[in-house]
Amino acid sequence: MSYNVNEKGYYGEFGGAYIPEMLYPNVEELRQNYLKITAEPEFQAEFDALLKDYVGRPTPLYFAERLSAQYNTKVYLKREDLCHTGAHKVNNTIGQILLAKRLGKNRIIAETGAGQHGVATATVCALMGLQCIVYMGEIDIKRQAPNVARMKMLGAEVRPALSGSKTLKDATNEAIRDWINNPVDTYYIIGSVVGPHPYPDMVARFQSVISKEIKEQLLEKEGRENPDYVIACVGGGSNAAGAYYHFLDNEEVNIIAVEAAGLGVHSGESAATSALGKVGVIHGSKTLLMQTTDGQITEPYSISAGLDYPGVGPMHANLFATGRAQFISITDEQAMNWGLKLSKMEGLIPAIESAHAFAVLDEMKFKPEDIVVINLSGRGDKDLNTYIDYFKL
Ligand SMILES: *Cc1c(COP(=O)(O)O)cnc(C)c1O
Repeated sequence: MSYNVNEKGYYGEFGGAYIPEMLYPNVEELRQNYLKITAEPEFQAEFDALLKDYVGRPTPLYFAERLSAQYNTKVYLKREDLCHTGAHKVNNTIGQILLAKRLGKNRIIAETGAGQHGVATATVCALMGLQCIVYMGEIDIKRQAPNVARMKMLGAEVRPALSGSKTLKDATNEAIRDWINNPVDTYYIIGSVVGPHPYPDMVARFQSVISKEIKEQLLEKEGRENPDYVIACVGGGSNAAGAYYHFLDNEEVNIIAVEAAGLGVHSGESAATSALGKVGVIHGSKTLLMQTTDGQITEPYSISAGLDYPGVGPMHANLFATGRAQFISITDEQAMNWGLKLSKMEGLIPAIESAHAFAVLDEMKFKPEDIVVINLSGRGDKDLNTYIDYFKL
């Protein structure tokens, strides 16, 4: 059994491309070309060179000695927090901008909620000298002022989405409308393993450099390529998809997915999609999402903006439905306490998203000889104000 995408764009029953007819030509152009272009040696050489010299890859696999001693197991951290721009997202935006260039597109659009994907997109547009338009809900623009400022410094135009709840969902609608109206010169960069096929597979491939490096680094450090556990937080699921990718079909590697329980899974204020979600369509793909009985998407909540998403990508929906991955929900409080604990124990201030993944150490029991890899998806600089308010620092 394979847990990867099939030729029709499905992971089990999840995935596909549920899009308006007007969007067909754009998505079809991408579907027909993405594997061919990304397999070209010149593409791979340029991608690898930018990951190395611009992003700073390979990111280290760090043996966390004090954490390992406290939990009596071997804990390794994959240091995506050391990527340029502070998180894994840039691995994907570099891949997509190179693809856009080869498709002859000179105008880039994206949508963003918390602003992290907008910043990663504006960064690579600056790198390549391409026009960049980022759609963002009017409310999010107010909430995420530092990221809006970053995007502007990087030369992007931030366009407010004024309809609906004026948040991510509305920004997505605006970006899709733009793409329909500008099918020839415009490329739409999606920031996670979500959206219509081929986006989930394409983004997973660009992020799969994470597990490729983990294998090489573990072989060097432990004499074996495969960990016993690989743990990652899941918003849309791109850092997790990258960390799992080369282990998906090896069932000896246990996969743990960590979702945001917010104020508690059943509090009405959460983003625990596997626990609460039902099958539905969001952002052009069939997956698990939080919705009311009449199919309205439920407003998610998490203290971490990057996990505050009402669905998960189709790969993760299938990993959940098949039982291949174990899903664990972690509350705001647990994650925030881990943000402080990791800072004090290892000198690493994590993104609040990433802090969720560490709480698995309290929820599960590992053996002394187990190799446990936790994906430290990003650093906490962007979350400093949230930490300050929460802990009255
Ligand atoms: C955006 C973000 C996430 C969540 O996105 P995924 O696609 O699920 O990886 C997690 N961690 C950090 C640091 C982020 O910036």
